[in-house]
Amino acid sequence: MKLIKKISDMRQWSKDKALRSYSIGLVPTMGALHKAHGMLIEKAVKENDFSVVSIFVNPSQFGPGEDYESYPRDLKSDLSLCRDLGVDAVFNPYPKEMILKDELTSIRVGEITSYMCGEFRPGHFEAVATVVAKLFNIVCPDRAYFGLKDYQQLRVIEKMNEDLKMGVDIVPLPTLREENGLAVSSRNSYLGERERKEAGFIYKALLRGKRMAEEGERDGSKISREVWEYIKKNIPKAEIDYAGIFHSGKLYPIKEIKDSFVIAAAVKMNRARLIDNIPVNLK
Ligand code: AMP
Repeated sequence: MKLIKKISDMRQWSKDKALRSYSIGLVPTMGALHKAHGMLIEKAVKENDFSVVSIFVNPSQFGPGEDYESYPRDLKSDLSLCRDLGVDAVFNPYPKEMILKDELTSIRVGEITSYMCGEFRPGHFEAVATVVAKLFNIVCPDRAYFGLKDYQQLRVIEKMNEDLKMGVDIVPLPTLREENGLAVSSRNSYLGERERKEAGFIYKALLRGKRMAEEGERDGSKISREVWEYIKKNIPKAEIDYAGIFHSGKLYPIKEIKDSFVIAAAVKMNRARLIDNIPVNLK
């Protein structure tokens, strides 16, 4: 397995594979790899001739007061996991090369970035789209793998890829959970044992909302209220950014439920901001 730091080296590696008509699968990550990353990586290794995992904690996607400095980092163990899973190259670029001081270009994906997390993290998705576009330009993957856990991020990247004709096959994979339902996340390391237990109620709240819809409730506001209150009741210290029902493609909050939608929540517990969602199709 190759560890590649320089953009020019990464480009050369990919060019060499493409010249010989090999396919390349990319898994973009911020490191601190866990079993959900492992799931994406395994799929990329299986579906492509060559696989690349990028590890880059992108400073520009963290807002002021967010956890950029304290975000968990463990390159040594990340490399060992990638090696074990049969990854061909890890791209771990230098921040100064990835983000130029005098940069003037960024990618803003319209309306869908103004709802859900976009409302609470201004500029976040612009930074995400821009860094993923850079990764696509450098690695030139045939396929790129993303988790449904970050539903809005996935939609933003799909839309960017479609609008800008990037031609990458975006492969979404389902959310991997702990036994109590808590979505696996690098940020779960911020939680104590008791908080981890309580955090399982976020998923239970979303399931409750799903059940209401399945049983015939069509008032989106009513379901959203129930999801919100269930979280508040079971995690009294939680600070809820949002909890409710959103359009599955356009991501705006839905008042009247039709066939497909997403139930999602963002909850702050201690230092962790946890996000989760369940895509629902009633058809
Ligand atoms: P991150 O390192 O947190 O930026 O995540 C890298 C990729 O892993 C993203 O596509 C995430 O959506 C995905 N991912 C993180 N946690 C999960 C999870 N619990 N289930 C599925 N995918 C996940």
